[in-house]
Formats: sequence, C-alpha cells, structure tokens
Amino acid sequence: REDVDLETLERLVDEIDLKHVYKDFTDLPLSGPTKQGLKSSHFAVMTDIQAKAIPIALKGHDILGAAKTGSGKTLSFLIPVLENLFRLQHIGTDAGLGALIISPTRELAIQIFDVLCKIGKHGHMFAAGLVIGGKSLESERQALTRMNILVATPGRILQHLSQTAAFKVDDLKMLVLDEADRILDMGFQRDVDAIIEYLPKERQTLLYSATQSKKVSDLARLSLQDPEYVSVHAED
Ligand code: ADP
Ligand code: MG
Repeated sequence: REDVDLETLERLVDEIDLKHVYKDFTDLPLSGPTKQGLKSSHFAVMTDIQAKAIPIALKGHDILGAAKTGSGKTLSFLIPVLENLFRLQHIGTDAGLGALIISPTRELAIQIFDVLCKIGKHGHMFAAGLVIGGKSLESERQALTRMNILVATPGRILQHLSQTAAFKVDDLKMLVLDEADRILDMGFQRDVDAIIEYLPKERQTLLYSATQSKKVSDLARLSLQDPEYVSVHAED
C-alpha cells in the first residue's frame, strides 16, 4: 500500500484541478487507509455525484448537492469526511468531535455508519459512533465525548448538545446534512436550526437533497458558505 506523507498529501490536494474530470477513486489524492478501504470494498469507478463532489469537498468547499436515491451520495460525503479529518490529524480522544453527519431516520443513519466502518476500518484511527436513540441517554453520553465522527438523527443529537455538558463540538470541522429534504419533511427544521446554532461557524458543510424546495434553500442559506452547486440527473 503506497502511503504518502501528510505534507505530500496536502500538496496533492492543493493541486486538484477542479476542471479536470476524475473518474476512478485512484485518480484522487487519498490517504492509504481510505484507498485500502475502497479497494477492499471493490469501489473503483466513481459515480457521477462522487466524481463531481469529492474533488470539491476535498479542497474544503461547502457543497449543495442534488442527486437521486441510489446515485452514491454516501461515499461522496464520507470520503471527504475521512480525508479532511485525516489531513488535519483530527484523531483521538482529545481531538473531540470533528465531523457530524445528520440523517433523517435511524435506518439511514445505520446504513451510513456501516459504510463508514467498511471504508474506515483499514488503518484509520478515528473513533466513530452512531447516535440515534434507542439506548439510554446516559450510555450514549459516556461514548459521545470520545468520538471524532458521529452519525446521528436530528432529535437525538440536539438532546445531547443541550444536555450533555462534556460533549464538546467547539472544534468541529465538518457538518453533513444528508437527505435534507426528508429531514425537513419530517418536521426537523427547528431541530436542525438549533443544532447549527451549537456548531462553530468556521466549518465545512455538505448538504445533500434529492429534491429542491423553499425549505431546502432556506436551510442551505442558513448552513452553507459560498457553496458549490453539484447536481446529477437520475441514473438509468
Ligand atoms: P444514495 O445515498 O445516493 O441513495 P448510496 O450511497 O446509498 O446512494 O449508494 C447506492 C448504492 O450504490 C450502494 O449499494 C453503494 O454500495 C453503491 N455504490 C456507491 N458508489 C459506488 C461506486 N463508486 N461503485 C460501485 N457501487 C457504488
Ligand atoms: Mg443516501
């Protein structure tokens, strides 16, 4: 496995040319552990949304992404989450929460978490957790404070943000809002607004939605800074 040192990786990411069309994951400057995770999961050619969004997100830009179900959105945010935190070495108990991924339902959150584990298990040292309720607040509370990456549903994570004193998000680097349209349709608008209030303003935000609406653009205005718009048509 060809690991490049952090400095080289940083330079290669700087050199990503956003006019170039990257096709395979191996065309991108990624850490050894992520490359290994993709390879062992047999992911080789990027889907359209991945090819468009990942280079932009690796360079730290906010993204407003539109793509239908099944287009491969999960990796289009998980790879930038892993890579951007890795390059910052935002790792370990003392680093605190580096990325928060919000999903509308427990089932979808679990799916995202499973992909994260699959891709991340080949040498990445992040502590990652799932916060979707169903367990006692107290047992989640213990684990929360040690996590670098969390996948969560809106209501539950807001509960911890407001009630778990030791849960620090001051150094959060990335927020992902997956299926934003569904989050809003399910009535979580106020929860998401409140969550954003707790987070540092200096952060990268990736917002994905299958459909566009007034509510989605309101949320985009509230959460994104100078976003790049990325959209793909349904795959046939
Ligand atoms: P979405 O979130 O847009 O609905 P997912 O991220 O759940 O899509 O991906 C849909 C399916 O496509 C999953 O089964 C996933 O494993 C597969 N997939 C994603 N990216 C790739 C890829 N680059 N190559 C092959 N299969 C992929
Ligand atoms: Mg999805």
